[in-house]
Amino acid sequence: MTPVEALACERCGRRYAPGDVEYTCPAHDGVAGILDVRYDYDAVRDRLSAALDGPTDDLWTYEPLLPVDGDPVRLGAGGTDLLDAPALGDALGVEARVKNETTNPTGSNKDRGSAVVVSRARQQGHDVVACASTGNAAASLAGYAARADLACRIFVPADLPEAKAVQPRLYGATVLGVDGNYADAYELCRSVSAERGWYNRNAAMNPYAVEGKRTLGFELAEQAPDADWVVMPMGNGCSLAGAWKGLSEFERLGVIDDTPRMLGVQAAGATAIYDRFVTEGGGDSVEGEAAVRPDSGDTTADSIDVSVPHNAGKACRALEASGGDAVVVSDEEIRAGQRLLGESEGVFAEPASAAAVAGVRAARERGTIDSGERVVVVATGTGLKDTASARDAVDDVVAVDAAGDGLPDDL
Ligand SMILES: *Cc1c(COP(=O)(O)O)cnc(C)c1O
Ligand SMILES: [Zn+2]
Repeated sequence: MTPVEALACERCGRRYAPGDVEYTCPAHDGVAGILDVRYDYDAVRDRLSAALDGPTDDLWTYEPLLPVDGDPVRLGAGGTDLLDAPALGDALGVEARVKNETTNPTGSNKDRGSAVVVSRARQQGHDVVACASTGNAAASLAGYAARADLACRIFVPADLPEAKAVQPRLYGATVLGVDGNYADAYELCRSVSAERGWYNRNAAMNPYAVEGKRTLGFELAEQAPDADWVVMPMGNGCSLAGAWKGLSEFERLGVIDDTPRMLGVQAAGATAIYDRFVTEGGGDSVEGEAAVRPDSGDTTADSIDVSVPHNAGKACRALEASGGDAVVVSDEEIRAGQRLLGESEGVFAEPASAAAVAGVRAARERGTIDSGERVVVVATGTGLKDTASARDAVDDVVAVDAAGDGLPDDL
């Protein structure tokens, strides 16, 4: 028995028993009717408080609240550090902490989602899992699939960073490089998976893909109950929406008294969620999930280079419910944020991740975040998978010959 009570359509409100639908609400075309997983909180209350009394080793500490029925696939996702970040805070004019998701087993926050989805896939007897990805979800699904002895097929835009194309193959996955952008890869993955009976982890359309991401919110509630702001990058919007769901569930369960405000950060080349939240006035006015935007992504922050976000509605509602806001940052600001995070706190984050640092700066300039507020920056993914883009943010190597000639005098 899992704690899942029902799946509720975000669009029309219809509710389904957990076994009755696999992906989206059948009342709408395509993937428009995203389903939200609803839980029976009373049934898990006792088991959960016992779990919360102990240490948080990994995300399975929160198993009473996860849609998995025992025997989870373990690779070590979750249980990440919350680092005090005084130097970063000084630079930004806030009291900063960094939630270091770069230490997840495959290098990003996607491991929280994959742990849950692959556990479910194995339980339900699927042999093949698939997803479309900008890179990190691919590596993550592939790593977890290897661990669970499932075959894995990945659809990615052909131009993704080299290491992100190598990592899933090393885990034994087949990587299909699609001649197109992430939206093209998403659609191809959807149709091929349906045809061939592969279990599809695609963001948003698989209702369980976001559920593991609630554990980030659970951990933040426990580690930073006093936070004023949680700052996260947004691509599809699943990560922020998932973290918010976890935070609000822990408020409802009485673990925390207040929830923080969420600040969602997008890159100037891919602003669809920002546009809907800020320009078009927030969550409730938002109808479908996948409103097509022609302004196809173009940013160095490839993990948030999403022109057609599949969880825009959920993300907007999370921003609104938390009293939060959204900002947009340029690639140049992202590079500066990447270097600042590395220099000030020793965290090497990829550009999408560094967008959160740049976002704090932008929100301070706009007066959204006040001086001295308690801000948690979520470092969503490691920079080691994309050293080519980080190269633009660093100084040149100093060339020195073996005798030491060339060594700068002022060093
Ligand atoms: C996927 C990803 C994001 C964005 O998450 P969404 O759920 O798509 O909004 C941000 N940073 C990194 C490192 C990611 O891999
Ligand atoms: Zn519906």
